[in-house]
Amino acid sequence: MTRVAFIGLGNMGGGMAANQAKAGHEVSAFDLSKAAVDTAAAAGCSVATSAAEAVRDADAVITMLPAGQHVRAVYAEQILPNARPGAVLIDCSTIDVESARAVAAQAKAAGFRFADAPVSGGQAGAEAGTLAFMVGCDEVDFAAVEAVIGPMSRATIRAGDHGAGQAAKICNNMVLGATMIATCEAFALAEKLGLEPERFFEIASKSSGQSWSLTSYCPWPGPVPAAPSNRGYEGGFATAMMLKDLKLAQEAAAKAGAATPLGAQAEGLYALFDRLGGGAKDFSAILELFRGNIPAN
Ligand code: NAD
Repeated sequence: MTRVAFIGLGNMGGGMAANQAKAGHEVSAFDLSKAAVDTAAAAGCSVATSAAEAVRDADAVITMLPAGQHVRAVYAEQILPNARPGAVLIDCSTIDVESARAVAAQAKAAGFRFADAPVSGGQAGAEAGTLAFMVGCDEVDFAAVEAVIGPMSRATIRAGDHGAGQAAKICNNMVLGATMIATCEAFALAEKLGLEPERFFEIASKSSGQSWSLTSYCPWPGPVPAAPSNRGYEGGFATAMMLKDLKLAQEAAAKAGAATPLGAQAEGLYALFDRLGGGAKDFSAILELFRGNIPAN
């Protein structure tokens, strides 16, 4: 049995920690939110009173936090001073490449094995244990990292050295942001043209308009029962998080001198939707912007 510390039990971390417990591991869980901690306890995790306490006896430490500043702070103040020597440290949050590399350097200097291992697959994938992991780590550490990730994953791919997992993730999410917007625009147009949205789904999902945004995460309620569109766009992947990822992609593109005009448009549209009050809603709720329902009148 592996002792796993899990820090950050939100929309994603909650399901991921539950799958570690389901696999028979002893999971010590911590989050700042009491509701999140209670859910993890109900799923078989034991509750720690701080991140420092959670990591003390752990063989592996997994973090699933909002952004780079949270990861940097939790590592510097809680994990690195308190984790057991030799523990495998895996950050699954989506953060900027610089923060991932900085934390990796600190962890390595303190004698730990570290991986940035952001994920794809959404809340449903987190709950089902079918996430895709993109891993940045030393080649020699990959087998140990993959073993820890196993109960949460359907695919674990080493992207390269530290930071490469985050580079893969921001490129992936730039595609996701753009395809979700394109899918929402198409649903709004279909509706205006008098085409039943359900019929459009049926046709596009078997045609060249097919994408993950359409067939796994359909923004129109109905065709994909697990999608956040069926629960008022609550939970899922918050618009504010998508905006964070699109900003990361634009910052990276500016530094690398890459042309990403659709990524820039997607960032602008999600920034607008966020300013109009959509920040806490799942990112597929941007459909309502194209339907003319936002701002509410
Ligand atoms: P969330 O806001 O639901 O969860 C984040 C959790 O971290 C919250 O419960 C919060 O209380 C906790 N937290 C914040 N600071 C903390 C601290 N100092 N110590 C302990 N806990 C702390 O967010 P989420 O949707 O679960 O996303 C988490 C990460 O996963 C983000 O980086 C996001 O970009 C990424 N991600 C999300 C999805 C998705 O579909 N939701 C998919 C892939 C990747």
